[in-house]
Amino acid sequence: MAMANTKPSESGRPTETSAASAKRIAFENVSVAYNGLTVLDSLNLTVNPGEIVALIGPSGSGKTTALRAVAGFVRPSKGRIMIGDRDVTNLAPYDRDIGMVVQNYALFPHMRVEENVAFGLRARHTPEEVIRTRVPEALAMVGMAAYAKRYPRELSGGQQQRVAIARAIAIRPQVLLLDEPLSALDAQIRRSMVDELARLHRELPSLTVLYVTHDQSEALTLANHIGIMRDGKLRAFGDAQSLFRYPPNRFSAEFLGRAN
Ligand code: ADP
Repeated sequence: MAMANTKPSESGRPTETSAASAKRIAFENVSVAYNGLTVLDSLNLTVNPGEIVALIGPSGSGKTTALRAVAGFVRPSKGRIMIGDRDVTNLAPYDRDIGMVVQNYALFPHMRVEENVAFGLRARHTPEEVIRTRVPEALAMVGMAAYAKRYPRELSGGQQQRVAIARAIAIRPQVLLLDEPLSALDAQIRRSMVDELARLHRELPSLTVLYVTHDQSEALTLANHIGIMRDGKLRAFGDAQSLFRYPPNRFSAEFLGRAN
């Protein structure tokens, strides 16, 4: 029995099919500590429904930790995380309606492309007949429909990352978390993938996206708002144009002024 699919959402429909209304992501005073060391410090940040927020900042500033806290891979020591009006702080990762893409694709090498994309659906007990339509649909959205029978090793880096994105969106998540999704790719492919991500977001306007990157131009191109992190704290937040024009403090000005 596919009980997981019959769980009601706020709208009363199953969560699997209720991606129509966008959901905010909110960090409310969230701290995360590793071995007693605080690496995310009282973070307050809201990603408005359907927006893309990019988190930028130096290595070690807590960007990935913030993302992992939304995904449910790390537990905050303080504060709460909301998706829409739902407090997800204590939910297991699979119960959060989240798709996630990380830097190194993380495709299963022994599975064909279509099996990789189906994996997250099977883990959520999605009925097979739904999987049969959802997998090609997700692959088509990233231009990979023709590669369903291939193995990851038979694909380029950019193609593998497209499959990873298809896998993330196949579950029709309310929230998409992208952790340096393009940084393993070479510069030219990275530029075309930025355009593809922008197109994908236009096609899925109800998807709320948190995007971690060290690449300011990616943030500028894609994000509605940008947050700048340092030492576990959010040091600046605003729309791209005003942040670059009027950085609110010296650290932000210096960080934004530096070449990538
Ligand atoms: P960023 O994504 O900005 O590079 P991270 O969130 O990955 O930063 O890391 C923030 C800090 O937390 C760093 O000092 C890092 O060493 C530390 N850290 C990250 N993950 C772990 C972990 N699993 N165990 C211990 N410390 C960690």
